[in-house]
Amino acid sequence: MRLILLGPPGAGKGTQASGIVKKYGIPHISTGDIFRKNISEGTELGKKAKEYMDQGLLVPDELVVAIVKDRLVEEDCKEGFLLDGFPRTVAQADALDIEIKNLEYCLDKVINIDVTKEELIERAVGRRICKECGATYHIKFNPTKAEGKCDACGGELYQREDDTVETVTKRIEVYLEQTKPLIDYYEKKGVLVNIDGKQDIDKVFSDIVNALGSDK
Ligand SMILES: [Zn+2]
Repeated sequence: MRLILLGPPGAGKGTQASGIVKKYGIPHISTGDIFRKNISEGTELGKKAKEYMDQGLLVPDELVVAIVKDRLVEEDCKEGFLLDGFPRTVAQADALDIEIKNLEYCLDKVINIDVTKEELIERAVGRRICKECGATYHIKFNPTKAEGKCDACGGELYQREDDTVETVTKRIEVYLEQTKPLIDYYEKKGVLVNIDGKQDIDKVFSDIVNALGSDK
């Protein structure tokens, strides 16, 4: 199963990704992780990427694609993979398409966890975190028994500074604007599956499994 997972920040993508890789026995390829690995191991690609990042610049598409390609040729990707955090642009998607064809693979599905902007804002703004143990809660969807106090350790709860309506809205708008062309791109290719991300975690997961079918 060769998959791409798309979804806005705060849509529960991480949870779904771990469920998918476990169920289908495929590696989870998160671009964030492979970047960090290349950089910490000091590979040629990692060194180049670091130069851009140190200057606060975006890593150019060719380099991102090269790093992903380098990972896709590894043995554990033969039976499939789940790409997460890549591609981000149509140019990257085109480049990935070529690489996948060169490897004589084909892309099975692109899973898009669909959550509205309003819903994402509500989720992020209501999030509360325990100062002591880091447990996360939500004032509406997962409230603590005693207001402002952690159920697990009694610690005080706080709201992350970047979880305000303003920053969350900005974050999501940027994401939606960037991703829309990508979603259209995969829709045209007939591989896009839209999953309703408003539902609870287990239902989202079973919808994904149904959409993928039982084949490996
Ligand atoms: Zn706590």
